[in-house]
Amino acid sequence: MKAMSPLLLLIEDDPQFQRLLSTTLETQNYRVLGFTSGQEGLIAARNSQPSLVILDLGLPDIDGQEVIRRLRKWSEVPVIVLSARDQESEITQALDNGADDYLTKPFSTAVLASRIKALLRRVAKVPGGAQEIFQVGELKIELTRRRVFVGTQEVSLTPIEFNLLCVLVRHAGFVVTHRQLLEKVWGPSHIEHSHYLRIYMGQLRHKLEADPARPRYLLTEAGVGYRLYEGEN
Ligand code: CA
Repeated sequence: MKAMSPLLLLIEDDPQFQRLLSTTLETQNYRVLGFTSGQEGLIAARNSQPSLVILDLGLPDIDGQEVIRRLRKWSEVPVIVLSARDQESEITQALDNGADDYLTKPFSTAVLASRIKALLRRVAKVPGGAQEIFQVGELKIELTRRRVFVGTQEVSLTPIEFNLLCVLVRHAGFVVTHRQLLEKVWGPSHIEHSHYLRIYMGQLRHKLEADPARPRYLLTEAGVGYRLYEGEN
């Protein structure tokens, strides 16, 4: 059984914290390889082919951002970054560099475990990502037919609203940065136009949420981007 469990690569320079995380994850039946520097971590990523990488952004040798950039040149392995509090720009940059998710220290190991599970589950799905129909709670989105329902009621969306929703559906459960959304929906020349996002997200919430001021599906990740709720794990 042990040999079948997913291998996690943990790159964290605080030895105490690393031990705590390793122990916790091992009790959840993961195998964990721990390293305290970016250099060692990158070598291990090549040699041991982990299922997922957990990466602290503040490392003594190579900056965590650089680790992600180097890793992404040859690997699609899912990456969760760990960062200190009040480093929103760091988080955004990490996601733009190709990280899949993030946690801000201090975080609960239960939350980390559920994020790992969600990422591994997403990777296990067929390439191309989202199924043709996405459903959570009252919300149902038919991607190929471009139709959206809240309960039994069909909701009419503009092409931009629908495209924006589509990007979130394809990353359901994971944060998509402002930059990524602007680039995918409006194009690379619009990555500075974050007010577009605020306007269109407001419209989408108005059409899809029971209470747009307290969204249940279209969640804000403060200073970073948006996340579409994908249900309980
Ligand atoms: Ca650190």
